[in-house]
Amino acid sequence: MKILLAAVNAKYIHSNLAVYCLRAYAKKQHPASNITISEYTINQPFDEILMDIYKQAPDVLCLSCYLWNVTEVGQLIQEIPKILPDTKIWLGGPEVSYNAREVLEKYPMAEGIMRGEGEETFAELVAYYEGRGAAELINIQGITFREKEKQIAATPFRQIMDLSKVPFVYGGDIENFKNRIIYYETSRGCPFSCSYCLSSIDKCLRFRNLELVKKELQFFIDHEVPQVKFVDRTFNCKHDHAMAIWNYIKEHDKGITNFHFEVAADLLNEEEIELIRSLRPGLIQLEIGIQSTNKQTIKEINVP
Ligand code: SF4
Repeated sequence: MKILLAAVNAKYIHSNLAVYCLRAYAKKQHPASNITISEYTINQPFDEILMDIYKQAPDVLCLSCYLWNVTEVGQLIQEIPKILPDTKIWLGGPEVSYNAREVLEKYPMAEGIMRGEGEETFAELVAYYEGRGAAELINIQGITFREKEKQIAATPFRQIMDLSKVPFVYGGDIENFKNRIIYYETSRGCPFSCSYCLSSIDKCLRFRNLELVKKELQFFIDHEVPQVKFVDRTFNCKHDHAMAIWNYIKEHDKGITNFHFEVAADLLNEEEIELIRSLRPGLIQLEIGIQSTNKQTIKEINVP
């Protein structure tokens, strides 16, 4: 059983952290499973992507859907059954998690959708297709899928998982990310409720264990990775967590790695600003998303 996790990124230097997390978690549960990853870009010729997937001939193809690739993924879903009629197509990612039924109605060739965070769901799907997991899809939580009679069915969203259970994805193959941005996650969810943002739907903010995080930061520093981008939605929403990480990279800096964080500027307090002031210039980069400067807009979109 060959399972391919495919991602279509916006640029070559980007990578898709989600598919690496899914594979790492599933391989921990099922070490013998044949799970591969292929990354493409939206700028690549469409036929080239199609040809590559065709050559791999996966039994199950899982496509990661984001705002920047959902059009290209939609085109792929329509073409793949013409050249790989027996391949089961599954989708996942924020762009299909909250309108899963509509997506399956639009793309009758897709088998199903993994909704919400995918590690546990994907691991169970792998076991299902390998014939040693759930006997039926209806027993797997967090999916919307096509039943035998082609009716669309959905199972409940699954409980959020402990983020520390996701294995570190870069340990074995950091060389594969040469000249690309390393994405890294120490929290999931966002405490805010901006009305247009998918990250505001999941109200379950959680953090990766700090001792694990420190070991992983040291790995990046030791391997002289040029840049690590944290994908945490609002990195500084928990003061102790942010301070521990900034202090760690300050004390262990070797003058090479740059760390990028998305922060809420209004949450930065004096202690944090003082620490940031003391860092080597270039050690960190802050990305600050201003939702609006119009008070009425801010009120309407639920920005605190
Ligand atoms: S602060 Fe950012 S991530 Fe959080 S809900 Fe608002 S837009 Fe989304």
